[in-house]
Amino acid sequence: MPYPTQHLAVTIPLIAAMPPKYRLPVFVGGVLIDVDHFLDFGLHKSGRAQSRTFVLFHGLDVIAAVALVAAWRKSPTLGAVALGMALHHAKDYASERNWVKVSLLWRAKRRFYAPRVRRGWETRSPLTWL
Ligand SMILES: [Zn+2]
Repeated sequence: MPYPTQHLAVTIPLIAAMPPKYRLPVFVGGVLIDVDHFLDFGLHKSGRAQSRTFVLFHGLDVIAAVALVAAWRKSPTLGAVALGMALHHAKDYASERNWVKVSLLWRAKRRFYAPRVRRGWETRSPLTWL
């Protein structure tokens, strides 16, 4: 699972290429969506969801939903978030090829049951994320 800093490194060229007002949305979609790992890790670590995986912002369907809302609302800002999310997921899939992140709806249908998911950077000290 790529570290947040790896997502940042991949996202920086896209951020640099965007007009200034879309840079933060691309950063949010490209890097900050990994905040859902903290919910997942917290539930896993607390023992409440040992065999379940809750990465709510990860999934091609999530990206599609954000892109559709962006198109419906005619919001280039939300479109920039979706673009960052697409880049984030491309990096995730290229690095780990983990089926569990493909679809939020599929995970929800399975009640987020995914017993063999490895936790990575989020289990380590933030000092090691660099
Ligand atoms: Zn991710």
